[in-house]
Amino acid sequence: MAVPKRKTSPSKRGMRRSHDSLKVEAYQECPNCGELKRPHNLCDACGHYNGREVIAAAD
Ligand SMILES: [Zn+2]
Repeated sequence: MAVPKRKTSPSKRGMRRSHDSLKVEAYQECPNCGELKRPHNLCDACGHYNGREVIAAAD
């Protein structure tokens, strides 16, 4: 069975993990109500998307 010749050094392990970090989630202001929402998703607060009401407002 193929087995690594030596233990991965802390430096090499860190180089491998340099791509593992999570990105910060993108948010933008809803043009209708000003609430923060995810881009390309309808607004949780007012149910608007692309200038029209898609679902009835949550509250
Ligand atoms: Zn909104």
